[in-house]
Amino acid sequence: MTELTRRRFGILTGASFAAASTPLFAPHVLGQGKPKLVVIGGGAGGGTLARYVAKDSNGAVDVTLIEPQKNFTTCFFSNLYVGGLRSFKSITHDYDKVKKSGVKVIHAAAMAIDRDKKQVVLAGGQRITYDRLAVAPGIDLKFDSVHGYSEAAAELMPHAWKPGKQTELLVKKLNALKDGDTIVMIAPPNPYRCPPGPYERASMFAHVLKTKGHKKSRIIILDVKPNFSKQALFMEGWEKHYPGMIEWQDPNMHGGIKSVNPKTGEIVTDLGSYKAALANVIPAQMAGKIARDAGLADASGFCPIDPDNMKSKMDPNVFVVGDASIAGDMPKSAFSANSQAKVAAMIVRSELTSSRAFPARYNNTCWSLIAPDDDVKVGGAYEPGEGKIKASSTFVSQKAESSELRKQNYQESVDWYNGIVADIFG
Ligand SMILES: Cc1cc2nc3c(=O)[nH]c(=O)nc-3n(C[C@H](O)[C@H](O)[C@H](O)COP(=O)(O)OP(=O)(O)OC[C@H]3O[C@@H](n4cnc5c(N)ncnc54)[C@H](O)[C@@H]3O)c2cc1C
Repeated sequence: MTELTRRRFGILTGASFAAASTPLFAPHVLGQGKPKLVVIGGGAGGGTLARYVAKDSNGAVDVTLIEPQKNFTTCFFSNLYVGGLRSFKSITHDYDKVKKSGVKVIHAAAMAIDRDKKQVVLAGGQRITYDRLAVAPGIDLKFDSVHGYSEAAAELMPHAWKPGKQTELLVKKLNALKDGDTIVMIAPPNPYRCPPGPYERASMFAHVLKTKGHKKSRIIILDVKPNFSKQALFMEGWEKHYPGMIEWQDPNMHGGIKSVNPKTGEIVTDLGSYKAALANVIPAQMAGKIARDAGLADASGFCPIDPDNMKSKMDPNVFVVGDASIAGDMPKSAFSANSQAKVAAMIVRSELTSSRAFPARYNNTCWSLIAPDDDVKVGGAYEPGEGKIKASSTFVSQKAESSELRKQNYQESVDWYNGIVADIFG
């Protein structure tokens, strides 16, 4: 049977197969019951998508969100927790209001997607049938992209690039540092989630050390990239607030990262060796496993999408939003994931309830805090163009801006945070 015939056969026989394998929810049969949207991943992308479809369709679409975590700690604003400017509790959210807003939340991991039968398989073997599926599992880390690093090594050299316990571990290690200690960060290759994130984190490390009166401690960033997001603004801010404390090295300066030793804290480059009291190793990244296993990713490890609607290029019944997608000029950020989810939600509703769809338009802003009240931003507006999501306009903060403007940026970022968590968690 050819791939096309097999898929068609799967669609035609979906109802009978589903009945035989006892799905949690009855399959949708044309003309009977509500159409079904299933969303995998309750973060910035998936959480927004599930809530927007449930809210805007007034219950006409049956929405199920599959998310293993009962409490979700946001990566966004986790650097402010690192800097001691926010509590862990303030960046942790539950799904109580999501459930009250008409979304069925299943706290389990999706183990597989049976695209032929339009079903998601849960850890316990249960199958959930969908008419449309949205996949938003975020990223997985390529631990072996740094020689000597592994998931086990992350207990000693935290990445803290997935939120929760890792971020708490990073902060515990940061707070235990003595004056004269060295922090070494390995910054990841493109593409990765939150392009300015490593450099905002280094700023927050420096803020903590400065506040504690450290005079001799140093932060060394070993980068595998020749340049980074908002570089001139960060460099200016580091010189102003933390002179001599942060040293950024591009590949020409360190010659290449050779290995890390989690037991000794040693990091070896082609041209030197460092003993880190705190090593923050941020490895290369790829789309979450469920998306890759379902055949939604290409050779890059991320998932190609149609820029008009966020549909997977591999399957028109599946949407991929957020960090797992290849979103053209848009960076991998919570703001982007939220914006992509709103476009996908509009298309899902239009296909399942015959509501009107408008041309896709996307937005992003990434704010970064260099020191308290000194916040810089970069962003843009985006639309489909040349086969990808293309920037139609961009903006970025300028060097030597007034402290009032920088403070206003910070307030904007706080307002944005409050808005996006309301979108995701109600
Ligand atoms: C330090 C740091 C700072 C950041 N700061 C900012 C910022 O200031 N602004 C900004 O816009 N972005 C920021 N980001 C980026 C932002 O956190 C991500 O881009 C965003 O969370 C991506 O959303 P997502 O929905 O794709 O993935 P996530 O938000 O990671 O959500 C994915 C969800 O899918 C779930 N999942 C995974 N696999 C499965 C499965 N098999 N079954 C069911 N569920 C599954 C996971 O449990 C998770 O809850 C930052 C990131 C970091 C690391």
